[in-house]
Amino acid sequence: AMGIRTVAVYSDADAGAMHVAMADEAVLIGPSPAAESYLNIAAILAAAKRTGASAIHPGYGFLSENPLFAEACADAGIIFVGPPASAMRAMGAKDAAKRLMEQANVPVVPGYHGDNQDADFLAAQAEKIGFPILIKAVAGGGGRGMRRVDNAGEFAAALASAMRESKAAFGDDKVLIERYMAKPRHIEIQVFADNHGNAVHLYERDCSIQRRHQKVIEEAPAPGMPSAMREKMGAAAVQAAKAIGYRGAGTVEFIADASKGLRDDSFYFIEMNTRLQVEHPVTEMITGQDLVEWQLRVAAGAPLPLAQDQLEIRGHAFEARIYAEDADHDFLPATGTLAFLQPPEESDHVRVDTGVLQGDSISVHYDPMIAKLIVWDEDRERALTRLARALRDYRIAGTVTNIEFLYNLITTPAFRAAELDTGFIERHRDAIFRRNPDADAKLAALAALYLLLRRARAAGEFAATTTDPWSPWYSAHGWRCNDAPVQQFHLLLDGREILFTTTADGDRHHLHSDLGRAVIAGTLNGSELHASLDGHRQLVTVTAHDGGYSLFTRDGALHFNEVQTDAGAGEEDATGGLTAPMNGTVTALRVAPGARVAKGDPILIMEAMKMEHSIRAPADGVVAEIFYGVGDLVDGGAELVRFEPDAG
Ligand code: ADP
Ligand code: ADP
Ligand code: MG
Repeated sequence: AMGIRTVAVYSDADAGAMHVAMADEAVLIGPSPAAESYLNIAAILAAAKRTGASAIHPGYGFLSENPLFAEACADAGIIFVGPPASAMRAMGAKDAAKRLMEQANVPVVPGYHGDNQDADFLAAQAEKIGFPILIKAVAGGGGRGMRRVDNAGEFAAALASAMRESKAAFGDDKVLIERYMAKPRHIEIQVFADNHGNAVHLYERDCSIQRRHQKVIEEAPAPGMPSAMREKMGAAAVQAAKAIGYRGAGTVEFIADASKGLRDDSFYFIEMNTRLQVEHPVTEMITGQDLVEWQLRVAAGAPLPLAQDQLEIRGHAFEARIYAEDADHDFLPATGTLAFLQPPEESDHVRVDTGVLQGDSISVHYDPMIAKLIVWDEDRERALTRLARALRDYRIAGTVTNIEFLYNLITTPAFRAAELDTGFIERHRDAIFRRNPDADAKLAALAALYLLLRRARAAGEFAATTTDPWSPWYSAHGWRCNDAPVQQFHLLLDGREILFTTTADGDRHHLHSDLGRAVIAGTLNGSELHASLDGHRQLVTVTAHDGGYSLFTRDGALHFNEVQTDAGAGEEDATGGLTAPMNGTVTALRVAPGARVAKGDPILIMEAMKMEHSIRAPADGVVAEIFYGVGDLVDGGAELVRFEPDAG
């Protein structure tokens, strides 16, 4: 829109990526691991030189908050689209940032953020602050290096593990201690400053719906925010930006203690993110501004496009982060190929920000985010209805996603009532992870109908290739002499094998299984299944892929497989092997081959997509062999260990 030509940079893994195809030009900067490509400052600057780029936008992750990169850009005569290195440094460590904010009279979370790191001293500080407390890595980010501690007895172990995690992730083990807020709401303020002494805020975003201290749903404006509080928080954030000579887009994060509702005397600074945030679109939707355009204007030396009194909030916006992850298993990141990818239709109300296309794979190398789904409407209620509909219309097969989880979350009465705080997911577990047996049985019946029609189609296609297309031997309809045609299907649903029996009755079939009975009929046209289930007609989308089948309806999705009963593979040896839960890297061996272990003991540690996974002994026994060493890449499902359980 601004007429600026763009150059993308990419790693080996991203050679076919969407961002590469969208940019005017693209330059390969190295192998797939981020450390060798997207974090390689020299390679990125060389790409800029080679293409004559005058500015670099660092995105949200990677080098976006790295002062060395900002300085390297300046040295190379290239504009870094972001704040000055000095402002990044001022906010880079959480302890120094808090001290600075105290001096600027911005309220900070009460706690200890000094230099003394002695374990006993920190324990005494925790006692003084009063439990529960939060231990935080001063270099932390992305929710890592953080431990909540509820009593003195747990403190020492939590401190050691927070320090260990921080050292591994950020190369620094310094921590601070904060009071853990009673009913924490994460409310952050978008700020913007230019080179001409202007600074404004673009209101707040509520990011209280979190898992593992990471944002899942963001919305703006914050429900229930009194306007006096909005004004006060906005002013505090602008003051914070001014105190460090800020320039460009930034976010000042606060925790509000919402135990008595939102009040203008109970919000506290936690940190500043010196970059554009993943969730900036909700601000764009309610202000009608393009924040990336603002960033580029400021970087080019122009003044901010609008003054504070020219900005206003219109309507309500939500963002839901669509991830390849398994919400049912502690949000374990997943990998896989996006065999089927159909986002909801975009409009003035629905926006999809994504970097992947159908056929792309979610690899171990980067964050497993698939897309950001953003919706807008005149008020929260209507925006929420849009979000629910858009999530239903977001159809992905080939990898596990959090879409069902997001849908269940945002349709709980508590979310509708905006009863927000960071404990929301934990508190509403039962509602969010609910299973509806009725709905499941209906989806399963549709799955059976699909397989039935698919079988018939395959049989028809085969018969057409023979000399006797009408022979009953090719019909595969389960034709029986003097009896109704009966067919059977073994479906694998959520790891459960279910036997379905169908009996034909004209064009209809009577379906029977452990889940119940139904009368099904329909036609299959490509991936469109026109289904009738007990007289209820609906259009269902079904797709077949490597991992099985995926069926999408207005009432939810079902991923299933057909078990071939005649496969005759025999009993699998359930005790022999231990397999990788996903693609990843082996980072540590906890025992040597030949070691005797007890059930639950860690054998090796794998890392995949910013997370560690322990592979543990399934029983008491001996680790006979370990097939990989530290640093080895392993495929999901690969056998890692040969394990011999004790007899009996
Ligand atoms: P936020 O508070 O905005 O969620 P995060 O620190 O979690 O910030 O990271 C911002 C985004 O940067 C991530 O959601 C991700 O898209 C990207 N990112 C960060 N680190 C990496 C990484 N190692 N690999 C790929 N993407 C990354
Ligand atoms: P990160 O750099 O990992 O984003 P933050 O300091 O922003 O770390 O904290 C991440 C999240 O942890 C917050 O969004 C909030 O949910 C929670 N949190 C942080 N500080 C507190 C606190 N003092 N009390 C309660 N929750 C907190
Ligand atoms: Mg944060």
